Amino acid sequence: MFKKAYIKTYGCQMNEYDSEVMAGLLTKDHYQLTSKPEEADLIILNTCYVREKVKQKVYSKLGEIKKLKEKNPHLILGVCGCVAQRRPEEVLQQAPYVDFILGTFNFYRLPLVVRRVRESGERIVDVEERETIPEKLPKLRKNRFSAYVPIMRGCDNFCTYCNVPYVRGRERSRLPEDILREVEELSCQGYKEVTLLGQNVNSYGKGLENRLDFADLLTRINCIEGIERIRFTTSHPKDITDKLIQRMRDLDKVCEHLHLPVQAGSNKVLKRMRRGYTKERYLELVDKIRKTIPQISLTTDIIVGFPGESEQDFQETLDLVRKVEFDGAFTFCYSRIKGTEAAEFEDQLPEEVKKERLRRLIQLQREILEKRNKSLVGQKFEVLVEGLSKKSSDELQGRTRTNKVVVFKGSPDLVGKLVQVKIVDSSQWALRGEICG
Ligand code: SAH
Ligand code: SF4
Repeated sequence: MFKKAYIKTYGCQMNEYDSEVMAGLLTKDHYQLTSKPEEADLIILNTCYVREKVKQKVYSKLGEIKKLKEKNPHLILGVCGCVAQRRPEEVLQQAPYVDFILGTFNFYRLPLVVRRVRESGERIVDVEERETIPEKLPKLRKNRFSAYVPIMRGCDNFCTYCNVPYVRGRERSRLPEDILREVEELSCQGYKEVTLLGQNVNSYGKGLENRLDFADLLTRINCIEGIERIRFTTSHPKDITDKLIQRMRDLDKVCEHLHLPVQAGSNKVLKRMRRGYTKERYLELVDKIRKTIPQISLTTDIIVGFPGESEQDFQETLDLVRKVEFDGAFTFCYSRIKGTEAAEFEDQLPEEVKKERLRRLIQLQREILEKRNKSLVGQKFEVLVEGLSKKSSDELQGRTRTNKVVVFKGSPDLVGKLVQVKIVDSSQWALRGEICG
């Protein structure tokens, strides 16, 4: 009989991709995946450590799993991902019953490690940093039409609040031929959309021989037959070139959506975050992008309550948000993460102040989104049908090229296809449409 594995993924798309690889490796090793931890023989938590709160969630999940381990002594428990990489000793202290820890550089060694744990009962901790992750690993992808493709790993920017360079290491780009081969394979398997992943995709190619920059990589991927849509994330505002903006306009498959994290609107805060741009430069960039690609939808990430952020500084963030009118914003209270530079800053703000600012920011962004979505009513969009709607099973759900979610009536055989949809109603969450033409 097949053994069963349960994988829980926290955090970003890169973690989701790594989990797809782990699922692929385990399936090849005769495991069956399950969505029920209580029936699993192997449980893996692929963890995120971009904020303290996410780490706490992982620890409370480990507490729940302890009970399963007590019931089933043969259950193997592994912690992978960013918490594993950065805090292996803390994980073992919090949960001494963990069988193995595999960091972000070593997750692909999973089958080997599970076998060793099973055979010898020894506990394994592997968080050694390695230069590359092998190519051609099997993957069990969650989605049948849209796939993640990492183009680089790690980050060299060291924004003062951020744990990513510590949990994912220095920036390493994948070779263009490996990326192109993966996208070609996806096209053969019927995938229509790829999302290229990296912490800072605009600096793709740094350190490679025969350097190909990100705009050139997009151009090469645009030629791959069968792929209809190309997305990418994340773009760092300091590294966006005019060449990239022009290629985004000219390459037919590159979608009209840009995730451009601004983080803050005050130059004092941006400088202390080490973001490498000013509010003025960001606004100029937005202006240039919108002039070149008028249909573009812009989304962002914003942190409130960074150390030393005054009410005046926060007002500048609100002011920037009003000026840009983003199509979406992921908003966070600053989280003090041990080991990052900003955690040592002395002017930390009380949690209450951060939460209150976050509430005001969310309220403003809701109003903006409602207004922007309303302006789309009556317009037609190409939608890639992703599946049944999450809310009601007799409706379909898909995304526009601008990454807006649209819900509409239609036959389930349209899943995976591109359809034209006219928007008939809107809210801050989603658009409602009708298939047309
Ligand atoms: N590489 C991406 C972001 C990766 S982390 C970029 O440069 O934009 C994703 C988001 O988490 C960040 O954009 C930031 O808004 C948020 N974040 C990162 N560290 C944080 C911290 N210590 N506290 C609160 N939010 C944080
Ligand atoms: Fe973190 Fe900054 Fe790198 Fe983004 S660019 S991953 S925020 S250090």
